[in-house]
Order: sequence, then C-alpha cells, then structure tokens
Amino acid sequence: MTEVIIKKCPSYASSLLKAAASEIFKHFGGVNALYKKGSRVAVKVNLITPAKPEEAIVTHPAVVRAFCEELVSAGVIPVIMDSPNAAIKYSPESLKKIYEECGYIEHLKGLPVEFNYDVSSVNVKIENGKVIKFAELICPLLKADGVLNLAKGKTHAFTYITGATKNLFGTVAGINKGAYHAKLKNVENFSEMLLDIAGFVKPALSVIDAVLCMEGNGPTGGTPKQAGYLIASTNTCAADKVFCDLIGFPFLSYPLLKKASERGILAADSIRLTGTYEQVQNFKMADTSAGLYGFVNPNAVTRLFAVLAKDLLTLKPDMNSNCTGCAVCAKGCPMKAISIKKKRAVIDHSKCIRCYCCHEMCPNKAVDLKKKALYRLGEKLLGRK
Ligand code: SF4
Ligand code: SF4
Repeated sequence: MTEVIIKKCPSYASSLLKAAASEIFKHFGGVNALYKKGSRVAVKVNLITPAKPEEAIVTHPAVVRAFCEELVSAGVIPVIMDSPNAAIKYSPESLKKIYEECGYIEHLKGLPVEFNYDVSSVNVKIENGKVIKFAELICPLLKADGVLNLAKGKTHAFTYITGATKNLFGTVAGINKGAYHAKLKNVENFSEMLLDIAGFVKPALSVIDAVLCMEGNGPTGGTPKQAGYLIASTNTCAADKVFCDLIGFPFLSYPLLKKASERGILAADSIRLTGTYEQVQNFKMADTSAGLYGFVNPNAVTRLFAVLAKDLLTLKPDMNSNCTGCAVCAKGCPMKAISIKKKRAVIDHSKCIRCYCCHEMCPNKAVDLKKKALYRLGEKLLGRK
C-alpha cells in the first residue's frame, strides 16, 4: 500500500500548520525515520518567480517554516532551495531577491535554516530514464543527504497541474529547463521526462501546499482558490492523485498520472488515504487541460496535419495590451520564437511549440491563451467543457 495523508488546514495560521506538520511526520514514523539526525536536507520548495505568498504562486513560507521547525527539532539541518523559471537568471543575486520577495527571509527568521546560494550544477546520469538519460541538476540538491519536497498545488497551462512530481522539475538548473520544452514538445513526452527526474531525485517525503491553491491558467497567471488542505506522501504521484481528487479532476486525464499509471509508478488502487476531505467545488482547470492536443498525436500523422493540429487543437499564445516589451519571454522562449518590435513582444507562430513558457514567465499577465472556433467545437464534442 502507498500511504497518503491529508490534513485539514483552513488557513496559514502557524498553530494549525505546526500541528499538521507534526502529525504528517508522525504518520511516516517521525522525522528521523526519513532523515537522519545531523543530516543536511534539501527543502525543495516552489519558487518559480518572485511573488507574494497570497498570490498562490509559490509554496507558502508559513508551510515551509512549519516543516523546517520539525526538521530542526529532530536535529536535521534544512537547506531551502529551488531553481526558478528559465527566464530568471540562476544567480545568488536573483535567489536573494526571490527569497525576500516571496517572504521566506521574514517568515523563517530566527530558525536555524540555510538558504542556498550555490548555483553550480552537474550533468548526472538518469538511471532507468525513459525519455532522458542525463539531466543538468543543481549541485546543492545532489550534495544533500535527503530531500523534502514542499510543492504548491496549482493548475498549469502546459502540463495541466503542478504538484509534487512537477515541483521536482525545479531541480534542473536555470536555463536548461527550456531545452526540455524544445526537445519534448508534447505534454505526454514532457510528462515522461518529469517522471524520469522525480524517479532520480526520490524525495523521502513530498507535501502539497493545497491550503490556497491556484485555479485557471496557472502556474503564475491563474487565480488563488481556497482548498484548505495539506497532502503528504512518500510517493509524489500518489500525493498528486489525491490532489486531483481534491479538486475534482479525473486523475487519468492528467497526462503525468496517466503515464505514471502505465509505468507502474502509480497504483491508484493501492493508495491508503488517512484523513478525509471535502472536494473543492467549481475548481477551474487551465483552458488547455481539455486535452485536445493529446487526443491527436501529431507524431503519428503527416507533418502537414501536425501543423493543422497545432493551430486547431491547442490554445494560441498572444500578447495583450499589458505587454511592456521587457523581453523576459523572449529570453526564456525555448524556440526563440519571440522578438520585441516597437516595445512589444511578437510571436512567430511558425516556430512556436505551444509550451506556454511565455505565459508562465511574463511578470505582467500579458500573454493570453486564445481558443480558435474549432477548438471550442472540439471541447464541446468531446464533452471536455
Ligand atoms: S509578454 Fe510579458 S514578458 Fe513578454 S515582453 Fe511583454 S511584458 Fe515582457
Ligand atoms: S512563444 Fe511561448 S508558447 Fe511559443 S514556444 Fe515560445 S515560450 Fe513556448
């Protein structure tokens, strides 16, 4: 059986989080059953971009504090780390800015935790990788004695959902993330890569901060949605499955969990859930998660049809009037499909692979994801809307 625990946590009040973190560790045999006394543990949070905790973009710092307090009490040294999105230069200066702006420095004040500023990385062999054999991962994680994965529960315009498994994509160093979008263009292959990375990192415990989630077109452009729970498991996919149940999204419609089930990483029937929950009502998924592109595999048909499929069965990113021409998206686009013309970003759609990184990276919510008429028709016909 795979153990998953769900704890009700209606707010980020420290007393509630402290009790929940303590119970979660107890459920898995105590902190020292997972992490040895005196060890240094990589606390892999979601710090995708500088954002206020209430925007529901990053793992809430109060959650990080509660789990770090437990680690410290058990004689473990927490080291907070993440490699933010590919458009943000992976440097000690940008990490400092992100820790500050996301409220981590303030919330973790007085606690003996370390903040990672080591931006070195190394190309490691991914044993048993299905679609990748090597990955450029951040050194501090590789040097740690164990990993505690503190993810945020959100929608995602490309992968549909980001939870415990997807959070580990942030162990790939800086700009190297973009190369995976360029190489693994469809969501199915990209999801296989996420499973390869999660299988390599193997966190001893994964927790999804689903107190305040994000719905709509996440992972940065959606809307906060109250759910009120923490979900924890030693298996990232099992935690993600319970997150899908919580928000009412069929887990096999999430490409990552479909692939995990096919690979035997997730056995949904063998999940033993401790705790109860009330399903979140009217949770809005990303517009892309109707999954029409996955319905037609462009690799299996002619190149011409693939072009048509891209235009008709995926959402088209385009800039709106919020665009300031800051060029963050142009720097991060894995296909170099964006240029700045007259102080505004312009997409060359013949190069665009619809990875939606520009939507994720834009600090000004200036990238819309547009549906064409046939896409809407397809949604209706397939009953996805
Ligand atoms: S779309 Fe966003 S990231 Fe790109 S140039 Fe405009 S404001 Fe900057
Ligand atoms: S334009 Fe946007 S969606 Fe298209 S390839 Fe570039 S980052 Fe991805």
